[in-house]
Amino acid sequence: MEECIFCKIAQHQTPADILYEDDLVIVFKDIKPSAPIHLLITTKEHIKSVNQLQAKHQKLIARMVLTAKKMAAEQKTDHSGYKLLFNVGRGGGQLVDHLHLHLLGGGDLRG
Ligand code: 5GP
Ligand code: ZN
Repeated sequence: MEECIFCKIAQHQTPADILYEDDLVIVFKDIKPSAPIHLLITTKEHIKSVNQLQAKHQKLIARMVLTAKKMAAEQKTDHSGYKLLFNVGRGGGQLVDHLHLHLLGGGDLRG
């Protein structure tokens, strides 16, 4: 997976504004934010998309969502509100083929 940009970030081979990491996930700022707060919660393991998820990934999926919740609180957007988004496949708007959860917040994201 040498050509995968998110694998390279996860392996610290490409710079990113990393806010958190543990054994399963890594969180960094989106390079082209679409909201005042735009973080990407990604997996250390290369998984292409939600379509590739299996029962064995349950712990990983839980970690992604709980990490998103923790980051939302740290970024102080938990009370005003935020969006969590998985784009899946090209038609779903996915451009980077490495599983990632968008955390969008810091403003009124209605409409
Ligand atoms: P997708 O459209 O695949 O759901 O979202 C990919 C996201 O990754 C986009 O919001 C894009 O701005 C972001 N992105 C793409 N390349 C890089 C990069 O090299 N570094 C960072 N930090 N974000 C990236
Ligand atoms: Zn990857």
